[in-house]
Amino acid sequence: MSSAACIFCKIIKGEIPSMKIFESEKTFAFLDIGPLSRGHSLVIPKFHGVKLHDVPDDQLSEVLMVAKKIAVAQGLVDYNILQNNGRAAHQMVDHVHFHVIPKPNAEEGLGIEWPQQ
Ligand code: 5GP
Repeated sequence: MSSAACIFCKIIKGEIPSMKIFESEKTFAFLDIGPLSRGHSLVIPKFHGVKLHDVPDDQLSEVLMVAKKIAVAQGLVDYNILQNNGRAAHQMVDHVHFHVIPKPNAEEGLGIEWPQQ
């Protein structure tokens, strides 16, 4: 299920460009356009749900594992996994997403050249 008006659904479909990191049948990951730190990424279920409780369990099953894979692939030591639900909780995009936010002191020695975002 996707929503025609949703920017993250458009990113999944390739209608809006993104720096894709991972894609499977149920899950998509890409670099955040406004990174809080170098390599800040977003992991999303392809199923369109606004808040976490809107997404069926079987559509969410990979999301945390993909976030973990990204953290491991980036060699992160210190990082945040963050997921906001609703405006009062600072959710700006109405499609469930998990942030993977490297902390600056974990960026040393990654050996990865991140593209300009
Ligand atoms: P929220 O505040 O909803 O948890 O976070 C939404 C995130 O989506 C923000 O960090 C913002 O930079 C990111 N974002 C919004 N629009 C786009 C976009 O078109 N492309 C990408 N790659 N990230 C986006």
